[in-house]
Amino acid sequence: MNEHIKKIKAMNVGKVLEKVPLKNHTTYKVGGIASCFVYPDNTKNLIKLLKYLKTNNIQYKVLGNGSNTLFSDKEYIGVIIKLDNFNNIEIKDTVIRVEAGYSLMKLSLLAAKKSLAGLEFASGIPGTVGGAIYMNAGAYKSDMGYIVKKVKVLTPDYRVITMANRELNFHYRSSFFQTHRDYICLEATIGLVHGNKEEINKVNSERKKRRIESQPLEYPSAGSVFRNPKEDVFAGKLIEDIGLKGLIKGGAQISQKHANFIINIGNAKASDIKELIEFTKEAVKDRYDIDLKIEQEFVNWE
Ligand SMILES: Cc1cc2nc3c(=O)[nH]c(=O)nc-3n(C[C@H](O)[C@H](O)[C@H](O)COP(=O)(O)OP(=O)(O)OC[C@H]3O[C@@H](n4cnc5c(N)ncnc54)[C@H](O)[C@@H]3O)c2cc1C
Repeated sequence: MNEHIKKIKAMNVGKVLEKVPLKNHTTYKVGGIASCFVYPDNTKNLIKLLKYLKTNNIQYKVLGNGSNTLFSDKEYIGVIIKLDNFNNIEIKDTVIRVEAGYSLMKLSLLAAKKSLAGLEFASGIPGTVGGAIYMNAGAYKSDMGYIVKKVKVLTPDYRVITMANRELNFHYRSSFFQTHRDYICLEATIGLVHGNKEEINKVNSERKKRRIESQPLEYPSAGSVFRNPKEDVFAGKLIEDIGLKGLIKGGAQISQKHANFIINIGNAKASDIKELIEFTKEAVKDRYDIDLKIEQEFVNWE
């Protein structure tokens, strides 16, 4: 990789960092070292970088805020692409055009400040706009699919196209991007409605209070581990009912506060977390014959 990194640096596509600990870029605070992080300056340079990586068969991964990703403990030999420079935002009346690297929480707070309603569900979701669209992140019976009007996308053959909401196949925690992993979300256009600032702020602070009371936010985690198997069947309840709350493996624990969260209680290895996830999945299958689907993404485990 060293020769490639030299060449990538010489391409001047944006900031390049070498030997980056992934634990500093994931909310679980685990993961091995990545050979290289690149922060492309703009779409033209992102394309230049991708062309180089694909021509030279170098693996790469677009990473948002790492709040839904579990990297393994081993070295990631390849390039992590960060879209932090894709951070522009433009608000016209009730419509927001926002680039993929923008923080979803910041966006939700900005909408509230502008008396725009519709993004309250996102005020406690610590991802980027790109990661939230990929995941169709949501809460309180709403999600990105409800508010995204269209998305600017970079295709695998380097075209920038616009995809409408109906083409993005938004369903519960899933979207077009999960089945088309070499498409990159560059920008979203989001449609909100005029609202009352005090009411929006009230909803946001009530939900914040509820999250603090019910979720282990004082520890590193990546939010819910499993999708709920049905709208009224909660993964957390199933796990709690078989008595797994508090179970520890190495530095990882099934949270006492919320059984669908695994927390890093101190120097957890990624493998500790993965083992707990697999153990839980098996225990739920044995007890209820339910196949829990993992919401989080495992990267670099093969
Ligand atoms: C405390 C806590 C609470 C949470 N609560 C919720 C919740 O209420 N609801 C919920 O849905 N989630 C929740 N999450 C999970 C997580 O925050 C969301 O899934 C979030 O949308 C992930 O965004 P990210 O930028 O961190 O994505 P990452 O983890 O960085 O990436 C996730 C996937 O998206 C891909 N990706 C990222 N950016 C792009 C892009 N621009 N184009 C294409 N692909 C891209 C990555 O390659 C990866 O495959 C929570 C997490 C934590 C830690």
